[in-house]
Amino acid sequence: MNDTDCVEVLLDVPLQGTFTYRLATPLPVGTRVRVNFGGRELCGVIANGMNGPAPGVKLKPVAEAYTALPPLPGSLLRMAAFAARYYHHPAGAALFTALPTLLRQPRDVAPPDRRPWRLTEAGRLAPPPPRQRARLALWQALAGSPQEDDALRAVSPQAARVLAEWAGQGLAERFDAPREVKAADGLPELTGEQAAAVDAVAASLGRYQAWLLQGVTGSGKTEVYLRLIARVLAEGRQALVVVPEISLTPQLIERFARRFAGARIACLHSHLADGERLEAWVDAWQGRADIVIGTRLSVFTPLPRLALIVVDEEHDASLKQHDGLRYHARDLAVWRAHDAGVPVLLGSATPSLESVANADAGRYRRLALTRRAHAAARLPAVRLIDTRRAELTDGLSAPVVDALSGALARRELSLVYINRRGYAPVLACPQCGWTSGCPHCSARQVVHLQARVLRCHHCGDTEPLPRACPDCGNADIRPLGEGTQRLESALGALLPKARILRIDRDTTARKDAWDAVYRRVSAGEVDILVGTQMLAKGHDFGALSLVVALGCDGGLYSADFRAGERLFSTLMQVAGRAGRAGVAGEVLVQTQWPDHPLYQALARHDFDGYAETLLAERREAGFPPSAHQALVRADAPDGAAAAAFLQGLLALVADDPAVRVFGPAPALMARLAGRERAQLVIECTERARLHAWLSAAEPVLARLGREAGRALRWSIDVDPLEL
Ligand code: ADP
Ligand code: ZN
Ligand code: ZN
Repeated sequence: MNDTDCVEVLLDVPLQGTFTYRLATPLPVGTRVRVNFGGRELCGVIANGMNGPAPGVKLKPVAEAYTALPPLPGSLLRMAAFAARYYHHPAGAALFTALPTLLRQPRDVAPPDRRPWRLTEAGRLAPPPPRQRARLALWQALAGSPQEDDALRAVSPQAARVLAEWAGQGLAERFDAPREVKAADGLPELTGEQAAAVDAVAASLGRYQAWLLQGVTGSGKTEVYLRLIARVLAEGRQALVVVPEISLTPQLIERFARRFAGARIACLHSHLADGERLEAWVDAWQGRADIVIGTRLSVFTPLPRLALIVVDEEHDASLKQHDGLRYHARDLAVWRAHDAGVPVLLGSATPSLESVANADAGRYRRLALTRRAHAAARLPAVRLIDTRRAELTDGLSAPVVDALSGALARRELSLVYINRRGYAPVLACPQCGWTSGCPHCSARQVVHLQARVLRCHHCGDTEPLPRACPDCGNADIRPLGEGTQRLESALGALLPKARILRIDRDTTARKDAWDAVYRRVSAGEVDILVGTQMLAKGHDFGALSLVVALGCDGGLYSADFRAGERLFSTLMQVAGRAGRAGVAGEVLVQTQWPDHPLYQALARHDFDGYAETLLAERREAGFPPSAHQALVRADAPDGAAAAAFLQGLLALVADDPAVRVFGPAPALMARLAGRERAQLVIECTERARLHAWLSAAEPVLARLGREAGRALRWSIDVDPLEL
């Protein structure tokens, strides 16, 4: 190789393609390097292909190669390249999204090596160190058995220095201790359905197959995951478990840790410190972790011995990333399983319509758990309370109050669900009709009475609670509607003896808040839980006898075509909290539309029937999953500029009669944080042609975006969940 040889480098910049640099010594694909790009020092990754003699142009050199860690594995580079193609995102930016922060920076890093120490062959044959007591003690400790750093430091504070010295002399070394994953005993006997699910998936280990495990809450899905992971670990392989943000509770991690004592579990989520995340990621990559359990970003974690992927609560919208690389962790998990030739298990009580359609089409195979695992636990009875006929006190009907006080008298835990945090959704003036609109968004500011502020839940803008109407001066302005805080205080007034615990984003913002919630609930210090859909997800509060759902009707007739699916799924999940562990449960839903098919299906616990109804509606309307969708969004301080930008794009991209383009039109949330948002909705029944249209649009967008300047931002969202 001579000094005109060159190499392609992936960079974390919002530009398509790779960048060519000069290279003195060959480096393997996947090596992290430092390069100068436009005057800045950036971290880059050596890309596949195009290595060879440089053309006649003058190229900048690769300044430095980082070698403390091995080159990034090919499987990760392939996955990032696929994500970049599928989501129409720059390849370098896509790859860097997949990396922990510390590996995105132009620095050489490696997490501290925490493997245990032992004496080498030479060390065992060498005479023990003479004289010095500390050295002799360390030597004796190691001669007995391999030792962790902590233990050696306890033997002598000089352990680190002495061990480094011995390592240099070839007398001691770190090594990968073989782990013994003990089979947990006292496990429940699987139900017939669970055993069938475990056997089916186990039979597919070693090849690609997507499984949809549909099981009502409490039917033992997690138990199925655990049994399958046990088989994977017994073969010395690795498992990846992806869960939504909110389900990654200490409870869940504890359950895995208890089951797999002796196994190494790496947890990955966005709240980790950079160093912790790097360590967990590298542990998985180097094969030291047996199980990776994490939120959507964990789907990228390199796993050399991967044998099984689980995506729990696969319907959950938090599996989709809403900025940058707008990926869906479930869909990438399925791609990855295919690429790695392993099975992927998607679990949910309420699968997404996308997954139901994939199962209907035979692309996924179905597994069902129709009964609850505890023999005594029955599905709860659902009662619909018609609020057109009932008198409401602070939004609560008499049957709801009666049911709550009945549960209180029996000392049973109840849950009241309302889809709105804060005190009331809006402050209004009955005299002139003024409402508390957000100055920056097309949204209302929510009343937070305790903090005495109005707050926008979209942009966070906060203003003091006005004493009088800003428009007409009327002092009698009122909070309209109910939020969690108002419900909490109304319940407190109606049921003064009840101990109420409110759970929403305001009360659980602190890191350890959930611990306190569990402690109080399991200590029997709570009678009524009041909260948002946070309560519906993943959490097991033990025996709940009563679940009440309020203020849900908004989801029935929304402009968003997914609102019905989301409401149905949330209600099925909330209802699933009732009647666990031997307590017969009841679910009360207050509604103006008790005859609506959604509530009727809920009352019958008929997920499949209603899913087919919704799928038929989507087919009729040509909405996903019957058609494929993408959005091109543009936002700017000036709405006309955003629309003109998209219009300019349309003028330059060739029409395809199979591709329907709607817009430019204002987004559903037309104004957000002071920026006007316009969008194009692109639809096609053939995925390939949708992608062809987007591929043609990408370079045009890039050019128009440069011309439009910094005030305008644009993005492509493939398979968008929010319009
Ligand atoms: P899901 O993940 O579907 O909500 P879990 O796996 O958490 O269900 O199971 C719900 C409860 O039932 C848990 O307390 C679990 O320990 C228990 N359980 C699961 N499978 C069985 C079984 N086969 N026999 C008895 N109890 C079981
Ligand atoms: Zn007024
Ligand atoms: Zn706002």
